[in-house]
Amino acid sequence: RIVYVNGDYLPEGEAKISIFDRGFLMADGVYEVTTVIDGKLIDFDGHFLRLERSLGELGIENPMARDEWLDVHRQLVAQNDVGHGMVYLQVTRGAPGDRDFIFPDPETTKPTVVLFSQANPALIDSPKAKKGIKVITIDDIRWGRRDIKTVQLLYPSMGKMMALKAGCDDAWMVQDGEVTEGTSNNAYIIKGGRIITRALSNDILHGITRAAVLRFARESQMPVEERSFTVEEAMQADEAFVTSASTFVMPVVEIDGAKLGAGTPGPLATRLREIYIEESRKTAI
Ligand code: PMP
Repeated sequence: RIVYVNGDYLPEGEAKISIFDRGFLMADGVYEVTTVIDGKLIDFDGHFLRLERSLGELGIENPMARDEWLDVHRQLVAQNDVGHGMVYLQVTRGAPGDRDFIFPDPETTKPTVVLFSQANPALIDSPKAKKGIKVITIDDIRWGRRDIKTVQLLYPSMGKMMALKAGCDDAWMVQDGEVTEGTSNNAYIIKGGRIITRALSNDILHGITRAAVLRFARESQMPVEERSFTVEEAMQADEAFVTSASTFVMPVVEIDGAKLGAGTPGPLATRLREIYIEESRKTAI
């Protein structure tokens, strides 16, 4: 596989970054994952704008213009012959000479930029989407700026491991009795035909897929309520699902051992998944 590091395209085994990189030492960096369908990028501009926002919030200069980012994404898709899959990008504050809590001078320490692609031929015909996933709930003990897409993913990773250990697929995180989001996705319930998902704030990542799915839902006359919901309300819901760039709309069929409806993917979640894939294919670039 060919990867991109600070301006160079290299075989993955030859790509290197400094041990002093603040991404490595301090999780001082941000990332994006853009999905590739039929060799084209879904919602490229949404991911680019969120990258700019994340970098701005951390005071890291965006090292490339929109068209340069697009070019690197396309080069990796082409050079690695990606049909379905994704492109991962990461920008860190860079590698100063020494480890120090103080941010380095941006004049001398430039951000580190890494991109790579991953193929996923089963992206659309996902066996998980046909069965639906089971989630457990765990305390949300992450920091207070979850709207910034940092590479600080240890707790979400631990949450996923707790779910696997419990015989489930993923975890929903809970703060003050209310669901914030999944370990790597936004969380939704459906009751009486209404789609309910937590409103945007610093408590959750502002999902690019979330924005698209809510738009498609409203265009299809499905009512949307952007508000918090409790675990109890979720367990009583007709349907549930999660969204992310890499899983699209993924039906949830069980929460903390309680089956939703028949315990199979619900009709509205299934329909939303179809609409999302169809519409995203049309606008991919
Ligand atoms: N919430 C969290 C915590 C995530 O990690 C992700 C995916 N990175 C999402 C939500 C979904 O965001 P998107 O739809 O932009 O992939």
